[in-house]
Formats: sequence, C-alpha cells, structure tokens
Amino acid sequence: MQPTAAVILKSGRDRSVRQRHPRLFASAIKQIDGRPRDGDVVDVLDNKGEWLARGIINQQAQIAIRLLTWRSEEAIDESFWHARVQAAIARRQRDPALRCTNAIRWVFSESDGLPGLIADDYAGHLALEISSLLAWRALPVLKAALTQALSPLRIICQMDEERLRHEFGGTVPRAVREALETPPSDALVEIRECEARFLVRPASGQKTGFYLDQRANRIRVAAYCQGATVLNAFSYTGGFGVHALRGGASRVLNVDSSAEALRLAEQNCALNVGAEGRDRYACTEADVFALLRALHQQGERFDVVILDPPKFAHHPDQVNRAARAYKDLNRIALGLINSGGILATFSCSGVVDASLFQKIIFSAALEAGRETRIVERLTQASDHPVLLTFPESEYLKGFICRVE
Ligand code: SAH
Repeated sequence: MQPTAAVILKSGRDRSVRQRHPRLFASAIKQIDGRPRDGDVVDVLDNKGEWLARGIINQQAQIAIRLLTWRSEEAIDESFWHARVQAAIARRQRDPALRCTNAIRWVFSESDGLPGLIADDYAGHLALEISSLLAWRALPVLKAALTQALSPLRIICQMDEERLRHEFGGTVPRAVREALETPPSDALVEIRECEARFLVRPASGQKTGFYLDQRANRIRVAAYCQGATVLNAFSYTGGFGVHALRGGASRVLNVDSSAEALRLAEQNCALNVGAEGRDRYACTEADVFALLRALHQQGERFDVVILDPPKFAHHPDQVNRAARAYKDLNRIALGLINSGGILATFSCSGVVDASLFQKIIFSAALEAGRETRIVERLTQASDHPVLLTFPESEYLKGFICRVE
C-alpha cells in the first residue's frame, strides 16, 4: 500500500515519534495533506516538513496513527507483514527459556512491531487476538505469514472487544464481530510447560486461554513449595498450583471465582499428580477477599500464599483505588502465612509500576505487623518482551517475599 496522505505534526509534538514510540495521538496532528481513509498508510512529517515515520491512520480512534516504520524506504506491503511475523517468530526460536514448552506467544503486539496482534500457540493450535483496526485489515496476510512459518493445526481468532470498540468509534461492525467471535469450543488441547501438563481451551476463557506471561514465575515459585501447604489465590485453571504440586507441596488450595476455570484446575491437578495425589489438592469457588478473611478467622495458616489477582487498574486515574485494593489483599494474605513462610505476590496493572507495587507491599506488611523481605523480583515471561521504545509493554511485576 502506498501512503495516501502526509500528516504534519504540531510544533513540539515530534519528540515521541523521534523516540520511536509506536502510538501517535490525534492531539499531536496539525494538518493532514490528502484524504486518507481509516486503515490507509500515511507518512508522518514534523512541523518543518521533515519525514519522520510511516504508519496506519485511524481517525475514529484516539490512537490516530499506529507507527510501523522509521525507515523511509520501507513500504508497508505484503512482504512487510511477512517479515515482521518471521522476525517475531525467529526471536523466540532463539530463546532458551522457551525450549521446555509448546505453548508460546509468538507475537506480542507493539513489542513485535505488530500493533493489535497477539498470536499464542497451544501445541500447534494458534489463537489470535485482534485489538486494532490495522491488525483486522491485515489479518489475511498475517494469517498467511503465520501459516507459512508455523504450519499450525488450526487458527482460531478472537477479539479484544473493548479495545476494538475504541478503534471503530464506539461499536464493532457486524462483519468484524462475526469474523472474530470465537465459536464456542469444547476441544481441549494438552500443552506442556517444562514438566507440567495443562489442558487449555484455545481462544476461550481468559486471555487466549492460558496465562503464558506467568510461565517462568510459576516455576520460580514452585521451588519454594517442597513440603509446603500452599494457598493459590486467583488460581484460574491451576497454573501455580500444578507447579507447586509437582514441586512437592504437601497440600494446595486453589481459589477462584470462576467455576469454569476451576473445573479445568481440577483436571489439571489430576493430570499432573494422578489419583494417588487426590488428597493433596482442593479447588474452591469463592471471592478471594472474603475467603481469605474467613480462613484467617478460622485460624488457618499456610507456608506459601500466592496472589495473582486480575488487573485492578486499567487507567492512571484508577491507580489510587487499585493501590488500596492491592494493599488490603496483601495485608490479609500476610496474616495467613506461617512464620518463615513465603508470599508470592503479583500485579498485572501496567499503570502500577514495580516501585509503587513495592511501596504497597511495604504498607501491607507494616499494617500486618510482619517483617518481610523481598527475595526475588519477577516479571513477564520472555515471549512477552518489553520494547524499550514502548514502556507500556511492561505490565507484570511480582515479588517473592520471605515473611517472619
Ligand atoms: N494465576 C493464574 C492466572 C490468574 S488470572 C495462572 O497462572 O494461570 C486472575 C484470576 O482471578 C481469574 O481466573 C479470575 O477468574 C479470578 N478472579 C477475579 N476476581 C476474583 C475474586 N474477587 N475472587 C476470586 N477470583 C477472582
């Protein structure tokens, strides 16, 4: 596709483009020379007419231009998309951390120069999540590139409805919805994460079916679980719990509010420890906040407590409220830990950074009256890389703490 227009930026608004930030907001635009349609390729120029970058315009969205290249000779054509997909895959094929698994995020949106596309592989079943107009428009060629590189058994698409609504000025068009709405599927796929095995329903449930971003952290936390009693709060389909069982936990309690996720958690525990391990785990459907309080009152204590809650803050203006929720949750959890035990605590809210999260845990520990030491700092798995020019791609942080 040839650029159909030149977008001139307001004076002083070229900085983020020069720093290669992939998102350009409508407020930075002074004028548009040409009449581009949404989804067209456009060139971006500074106030004095100097060429800066090339991207795809969407005037219905707040992110008016998604920048794709800072090299003027690079065209956004079919071979461009193929090259981007191939590069993303090649990066991960060289990644030693991914050798023990067949469940891999091959494409992580802006971090791989493909804004709005996520491609998660579950043992050959490829789940694509689309969250931008540009990924929707490029979908046929993106699918062709992924097929050529990975020969998947099948490709299943889903949409990030909230993000897509913003891309289409409020409502997702019917044609898009129909193409991306995942047909309900009962088909379970078995994946492996080092020694552990999991059943996943691709493009169904949460994320694209499984929390691949916690892969390395599940293995780190399991190392503390030998002989331990473990409370796995916000368990989803049992991720941390399964690794804890394999790591020798004497007992694991998985807690989640989703009955569907817990049914899979049961199956996943059974798959890994068999019938003889049946009395080593339990799955309870409950609100974590309420259950933790009840367990505390009953005098229950655990050697290891894992907290992996959903995103509490989606926007910067929700940070204060989220901080209070994280603090309350961690304070209650700290009260449940045996002296010398472990708290593994996470936040996947991008707007709560690691230093703020540390302050929150500090306050929680102070209020709980527990002397607490961070012994490990954790982040998202390496197939969710943080592109330095797009710091927003960093979102998951966690601490393993020793609690006295
Ligand atoms: N640790 C999991 C991922 C957790 S995602 C893994 O490794 O796979 C967060 C989970 O919290 C979701 O499964 C969601 O159903 C659950 N959840 C959200 N709010 C909850 C609440 N108030 N009480 C219990 N579970 C909750």
